[in-house]
Amino acid sequence: MKVILISKNIPEIDIDTSELEKHIAFTFLVDGISRACSHQLVRHRLASYSQQSQRYVSMKNFPYVTPPSIENKNISFTVNKEKVSLTYNEFMNLIGEAYGSLIEQNIPKEDARFILPNSCATRVVFTMNGKELIHFLKLRTCNRAQWEIREMALEILKIVREVLPEIFKKIGPECFTTGICPEGEKTCGKKEEVINFFKSF
Ligand SMILES: Cc1cc2nc3c(=O)[nH]c(=O)nc-3n(C[C@H](O)[C@H](O)[C@H](O)COP(=O)(O)OP(=O)(O)OC[C@H]3O[C@@H](n4cnc5c(N)ncnc54)[C@H](O)[C@@H]3O)c2cc1C
Repeated sequence: MKVILISKNIPEIDIDTSELEKHIAFTFLVDGISRACSHQLVRHRLASYSQQSQRYVSMKNFPYVTPPSIENKNISFTVNKEKVSLTYNEFMNLIGEAYGSLIEQNIPKEDARFILPNSCATRVVFTMNGKELIHFLKLRTCNRAQWEIREMALEILKIVREVLPEIFKKIGPECFTTGICPEGEKTCGKKEEVINFFKSF
């Protein structure tokens, strides 16, 4: 995954909550995240997005993301009651071959993509105002967030802490910003550890 801040709008004014929303904005390019991750990202409504098209860009030999829990594992599938042993990479290559075969049979890319997996890597450019970015970071740097979007949120936090430390040094998951975990029974139970992590992050 690559996260690049491609533009920012930070006028020379005193920044309070209202200015964060009205005049401060960040545009990021995120490359090499899975479609599973981008789907979570675009749930954040107060932002503008441009995503690489699967209608026009060929996904032959598509790049994909491998979750750490699967990395280097031989995975077994049961197909037609036969147990087939394939690695994750082999299975991805198989999907790539099937996609290629659909394209060769003149199936349009916009339809061939229906067989592509969530792991398929994508590229998204998005713009958020300062207030929405803080909300996004609060939710997605939390230990409860899915690992990939959390990794992305941490990269973004690292960048904006350098750009606007007076605001973003105080930003992180809710336990860090308020001292209270809102997750109830689903809490990670590591509040002190998390607070210390974000203090020195
Ligand atoms: C750990 C985690 C697990 C999740 N699991 C699921 C899941 O299982 N299923 C699922 O469907 N989703 C899930 N989500 C996504 C979640 O439900 C939200 O869609 C997503 O986090 C976007 O956040 P949001 O709605 O608070 O805010 P955003 O869309 O980022 O908007 C920010 C804030 O602006 C305000 N706002 C935005 N639009 C409006 C509006 N139209 N009217 C009034 N106020 C508005 C709200 O106050 C909102 O909180 C999960 C999210 C997290 C962080």
